[in-house]
Amino acid sequence: MLDEFLHIERIAYFSMEIALRNEIPTYAGGLGVLAGDTVRSAADLELPMVAVSLVSRQGYFRQEIDAQGRQVEHPASWEPERFAQPLDAKIAVPIEGRAVWIGAWLYVLEGHMGGLQPVLLLDTDLEENRREDREITHHLYGGDETYRLKQEIVLGVGGMRLLQALGFTIRHYHMNEGHSALLGLELLRRYLYPPEDLRPGESPYDLPRVRELCSFTTHTPVEAGHDRFAYDTVQRVLGNVINVDIAQRLANPAEAQRSRLSFDEAFVDLATLKHLAGEDSLNMTRLALNLSEYVNGVAKRHAEVSKKMFPGYRVHAVTNGVHPFTWTAESFRQLYDRYLPSWCHEPEQLVRADCCIPDAAVWEAHVQAKQALIEKVRALTGVALHPKVPILGFARRMTAYKRPDLLFSDIERLKAIAQQRSFQIVLAGKAHPRDEGGKRLIEQLHARARALEGVVPVVYLPDHDMDIARLLVAGVDIWLNTPLRPFEASGTSGMKAAFNGVPSLSVLDGWWVEGCIEGVTGWAIGNAAGADDGDARALYDKLEQVVLPLYYGYEREPGGWIRVMKGAISKNASYFNSHRMMRRYATEAYIR
Ligand SMILES: *Cc1c(COP(=O)(O)O)cnc(C)c1O
Repeated sequence: MLDEFLHIERIAYFSMEIALRNEIPTYAGGLGVLAGDTVRSAADLELPMVAVSLVSRQGYFRQEIDAQGRQVEHPASWEPERFAQPLDAKIAVPIEGRAVWIGAWLYVLEGHMGGLQPVLLLDTDLEENRREDREITHHLYGGDETYRLKQEIVLGVGGMRLLQALGFTIRHYHMNEGHSALLGLELLRRYLYPPEDLRPGESPYDLPRVRELCSFTTHTPVEAGHDRFAYDTVQRVLGNVINVDIAQRLANPAEAQRSRLSFDEAFVDLATLKHLAGEDSLNMTRLALNLSEYVNGVAKRHAEVSKKMFPGYRVHAVTNGVHPFTWTAESFRQLYDRYLPSWCHEPEQLVRADCCIPDAAVWEAHVQAKQALIEKVRALTGVALHPKVPILGFARRMTAYKRPDLLFSDIERLKAIAQQRSFQIVLAGKAHPRDEGGKRLIEQLHARARALEGVVPVVYLPDHDMDIARLLVAGVDIWLNTPLRPFEASGTSGMKAAFNGVPSLSVLDGWWVEGCIEGVTGWAIGNAAGADDGDARALYDKLEQVVLPLYYGYEREPGGWIRVMKGAISKNASYFNSHRMMRRYATEAYIR
């Protein structure tokens, strides 16, 4: 099976998390879903890639919500052998002075149009390793700083060595976020200037060559969000391989030869590492920036913010997209198949949705998707939502900057709006086990739901995953997004909603700065530069005066609501899809 992937040069795509399918819990949220959509689009477009990630045998976690509305975390163990095949190759990386062995599972991602892409899931749970090392690839985003650094060595350095051992020919490396930036150190080790060309004191590394080979997508618009490691930790974990004077060794050609071959030889000296990754701490974003010729943010606004954060670096913008087939409900797939048959390969076709698809057919497809959600809600919570009453949806990672509580900041106002025109609310999302603020938000949301009892039905679906997300983005009537600016680099769930004719009601941040045409594709909350403290009032005003009246306004404006649904499809789904995103990466980053 592997052999068929080796005959052609590939783009290696490195990501700490990847959402391959619902049964494989190797993702935590939007970043992993984006990685999955990247490879799914590559499969449809027949763009040869190989994805590299960790096997995360215990997954992220399975979320249960207890009677008090508190998150309870359970391991989400999965059996790689059920979905992937073990590969023979094993390589070692140096961690804390010992060799840690790494094997891999081959998962073959099968696109719905027949394309195949290999995904390597790295695994340290091998007999050769001592107990603690066997657990390095168990928990996605688990453990402490040291554990994370070990994972990033396995992903970056281990991933590179495994690709080589398996016989892949790689034409370009793409780092999805900074977690995999250590791969660049392995590349530096491979691309050394010939020793005879070096003058004393000159860097032995062919950095320009390495930079040509690498692209880096940053996802974090705040400095504090970037992965960084104290050099104490780095010295402890990587000490014996960075405290070597490479230039001195290279003065002796026999040494140089050895340093290319043996696993425990230096890949970079500490001075060079500090030069590339920051003097005070090893900043993975800095490292990735310095090792990549092509750097991009995930939306136009995010690229601007990143340029300010990293003066002197050229930061391109490739706005994210979502995978058309994956995120479109069955009823809408059938609708598009009928009216715009090539939409799956060429989602640009959807620009014609506003003129070419009858209103009644759009509404009927939505009614079906809403029914599917209502049934799921009843099965999971026992609550019967009303099919004729609009549903507001909010589901994503639960963390402070996403402000899931904004909608609930004035309960009396919310009740007053609902007494005029009723609506229902569906929520979902996991908080990182160590994000106390995020976990508190989940509790608060449950308290708010109780306070609204009898006036606004509110349900919280536990264990948000790809399947729940798919039902939610299609089955609600309005997709709500209320991040604190400028923290939402892109956001992708609103794009998924657009594929299902669900308009967004959103703060102008991330993708929505590009996607929002007021009253045409959805609605803005506040303005792009607005003060955050006015957002709650802006949200209530818009909901009360614009969104709900339009939804209920059949008599005054028949088809008014459906026009916005079609606006979301024709103007947003046609553009904010991962096919467009991958065509851009291919022509602007991979082939240069
Ligand atoms: C799409 C998706 C996300 C990302 O949602 P944002 O609104 O972009 O934060 C998170 N979790 C799951 C399960 C998703 O499918």
